[in-house]
Amino acid sequence: MIVSALQNLADPAVHLRENVPLRDCGTFQIGGPARHVVECHAPSALGKVREIFKTHGIPAVLLGQGSNVLFSDEGWPGWIVRYLSQDCKPEPIGENRWRVSAAADLDALAAWACASGQAGLEAFSGIPGTIGGGVAGNAGAWGAQLEQVLERIHGWDPEGKQAIWLVAECQFEYRDSRLKHDGSWIGAIDFRTEPGDPVILEQKRREILSLRAQKHPDWRKTPCIGSFFRNLAPSSAAERRQAAGWFLETAGAKNERVGGAAVFEKHANILVKATETCTAADVAALARRLQSRVKIVHGYNLIREIRYLGFIPGETDGFHTFH
Ligand SMILES: Cc1cc2nc3c(=O)[nH]c(=O)nc-3n(C[C@H](O)[C@H](O)[C@H](O)COP(=O)(O)OP(=O)(O)OC[C@H]3O[C@@H](n4cnc5c(N)ncnc54)[C@H](O)[C@@H]3O)c2cc1C
Repeated sequence: MIVSALQNLADPAVHLRENVPLRDCGTFQIGGPARHVVECHAPSALGKVREIFKTHGIPAVLLGQGSNVLFSDEGWPGWIVRYLSQDCKPEPIGENRWRVSAAADLDALAAWACASGQAGLEAFSGIPGTIGGGVAGNAGAWGAQLEQVLERIHGWDPEGKQAIWLVAECQFEYRDSRLKHDGSWIGAIDFRTEPGDPVILEQKRREILSLRAQKHPDWRKTPCIGSFFRNLAPSSAAERRQAAGWFLETAGAKNERVGGAAVFEKHANILVKATETCTAADVAALARRLQSRVKIVHGYNLIREIRYLGFIPGETDGFHTFH
């Protein structure tokens, strides 16, 4: 019934697909088949899709570009909605205030901002993923986090009711928010910028992209999902977060490998798919080994930043869950 309801939408911004390899849905290029995938490209289309899932009482996992999720080798038996688009056209809603679809690419938004003399987004240059995924996970780099530029978030609450949230209602934390866990869907965001000089902003963007290229793998050539573990909370307000990469490196992480999963040679907090045969089980086993090394050497329990979708052998968080 839900299949025909989605087909009957006949919306060009909605595509229904069956048995889609999850390895094609994320930057790690790992994962078995997803039973049903709905691809959606625009906020209005996402609203119609949300309404259909609400009417049928069927749960769906919402994803963007899958740059922060490890997909199970067994795949996913339920519904996935992928909300992503190549377009990035913020519309003005006031002085230095803009609205953009959460499906848009975060790096494309940063590029637009720099080229058009809008300051405040340059730090997000080169971060893979959609704006929706970025907001849900409060993405950031170089001391900046997305929550700092947000004004309002338009979406659907866990019951499927349309909602507009203020930043204070989203419980933003370091690489986290309420929206990432409670089943809320983000359709569009309002954000603000400051007037800036495009020449200076473009220069900053180039510097950031070049620094990222030195430290991070290019996921198209070396598949990965970014930093695997959260940086450690500071022990006092005066301190900064302590890099998980340092704890991993000094615990000998870079020498570890399980099956086709390895630690990136330039950044110990990034696990990479080193061979075509690398599985999600390899990655998770490597992650557990690294956690145990850091626990032995430093006495810290590293906490995962990325999420697991579906059954991963050796994990106790559940069978077919998003955890
Ligand atoms: C090479 C590399 C470098 C990276 N560097 C950084 C970095 O510097 N800083 C950083 O913060 N991250 C970094 N990441 C991680 C990743 O880019 C971010 O987490 C990104 O914001 C995820 O966006 P996504 O669209 O891929 O989300 P997905 O991976 O698809 O989903 C991530 C989470 O967001 C939720 N979500 C996605 N879209 C929506 C939506 N519209 N509404 C509600 N929830 C949604 C999902 O349900 C899931 O819980 C990096 C990743 C890679 C591969």
